[in-house]
Amino acid sequence: MDEALSKTRGVTFSANTFALLPSGERGELRESLVCTACEADAYFIREARNGRRACFGARPHRENCELASLVTEDGGGAALDDIDEQINAGNVFRIEPNRDRTIRHVRHDEEAEASINGSAVRYIRRGSGTARVSSMNFARLLRQLVLREEFRRSQTLLVMSDDSRQSVRAGCVHLKDVEGKHRNRLRVYWGTIRFPRAKNGGGAWLNTGRGSPTIVIRDDDDLEALLEMVGHSELEDLTGSFFAYMGKLRNAPDGAQYLFVNDLEWFAVRTYSDDADLN
Ligand SMILES: [Zn+2]
Repeated sequence: MDEALSKTRGVTFSANTFALLPSGERGELRESLVCTACEADAYFIREARNGRRACFGARPHRENCELASLVTEDGGGAALDDIDEQINAGNVFRIEPNRDRTIRHVRHDEEAEASINGSAVRYIRRGSGTARVSSMNFARLLRQLVLREEFRRSQTLLVMSDDSRQSVRAGCVHLKDVEGKHRNRLRVYWGTIRFPRAKNGGGAWLNTGRGSPTIVIRDDDDLEALLEMVGHSELEDLTGSFFAYMGKLRNAPDGAQYLFVNDLEWFAVRTYSDDADLN
């Protein structure tokens, strides 16, 4: 979107005007930006090297916002892929950690018997029938959550990192749906990075919106690995990205919520440019 409102200043900025402000002023204003139509938390996306113009984003917009577009549609017409077919077949999915070259630890699934199209597949007994267990890479899970509304609401079963089983609907929690009951619970938490901020002593704080958990990247080594994983060199480029993290939601004594990313294997990011149409 081309405009966003600063709640504290009571001024609507065009993206071009905002881009010309001194960076210090932009930094002060960014926490106050909202969608001009629905007042959802907004963020500023600077001009990209590939020529994409500066703009504002606010995903997710509030319900029925006239400025929201495809994000709640089912895949935006994207073609079915092998994962979709396996979902439709009623498979259970073991969520696999990222196996990016920047990731150091790789867990081996000793029980996988065969590999079909790069997916480990095995069969387990469940009740009287046989459920097929496929594997789904963590980044692929995020892709499904972002692009497939039907998947988000589905009862498709996931095998989590602690071997517990959760339906997608219960096991994957968008940050706007976080409740008290999620405290200390292992879930796949997902949402949008609104803006990042360098952390004293290294690493970063990733803001996800007012009242939403803050993501904590613990040190510069992890931050560097994360940026390499998403193909960017600067922290600022994480603005507007979709992310997912499998871990426990932590609460500070003052009630603030945090996702401490202790393990990049369970952190996935789709940068703004991956899903630029979904705004
Ligand atoms: Zn809106």
